[in-house]
Amino acid sequence: MSVGLLFDSTKCIGCGGCTAACKEQNNLPLPIEPVTTAYTWTIVEKRDGAFVRRLCMHCLEPTCVSVCPVGALQKSASGGVVYDAGKCIGCRYCIMACPFGVPKYQWDRAIPVVGKCVLCPDRVKAGLATACATVCPTGATLFGDRDALAREARARIDAEPAKYVDHVYGLEEAGGTSVLMLSGVPFERLGMKTDVPRQPLPLLTWQILSKVPDFVILAGAFLFGLHWITHRRDEVRQAEEDER
Ligand code: SF4
Ligand code: SF4
Ligand code: SF4
Repeated sequence: MSVGLLFDSTKCIGCGGCTAACKEQNNLPLPIEPVTTAYTWTIVEKRDGAFVRRLCMHCLEPTCVSVCPVGALQKSASGGVVYDAGKCIGCRYCIMACPFGVPKYQWDRAIPVVGKCVLCPDRVKAGLATACATVCPTGATLFGDRDALAREARARIDAEPAKYVDHVYGLEEAGGTSVLMLSGVPFERLGMKTDVPRQPLPLLTWQILSKVPDFVILAGAFLFGLHWITHRRDEVRQAEEDER
């Protein structure tokens, strides 16, 4: 089963419970910042009289995963895109590649890592809903099987067509995402990107790269960087031990 979230903007009251629960679940330091950062993985914004959550969309075919040269980002079998700081070399390709501008970097740290929502993998493994969905008092954030959430989203639109924009955001954007969204106002007015290609972006990336004859040179550069990667891993490990 591949799980995900359904965020229904029409049900959100902007209480910020999801943001606070995410901080607690992931041991992220306060304060809660007004934008997503490496330390604030989800926020709630008020736009055009409606509330909207910002978080990783957990793409079905994530560009961040496809560009990561060391496999620090992975699409898990359960649906979340998870991150291993121990593997990360800090190249920040994921930050540049994400069509939704999600991954953020710890610019203030001597040994920075990337921060983003990881869809609560430990909770999901234990058969629990994500922390943000668990605390949501109105059901605006719903956790469940992605296909079932997609059906639920469609059913809500069909039941109350005057209330909803006739579009389930995330069904097709970037080839589909595990986070789906419903809204009563046009998604662009919520600050959601509506010009995202409908086909998976990794496919586009490889189509472009296949036309670049010198791409093979990158492989050499990559091998040359292996020593630096190993060094970076040791640095991250040491920094984590120092923090503990
Ligand atoms: S939204 Fe961005 S960070 Fe999240 S899975 Fe998709 S490409 Fe990766
Ligand atoms: S799914 Fe987990 S990591 Fe993602 S925003 Fe919700 S609480 Fe945070
Ligand atoms: S906890 Fe639920 S109602 Fe509160 S801000 Fe988050 S999504 Fe909206």
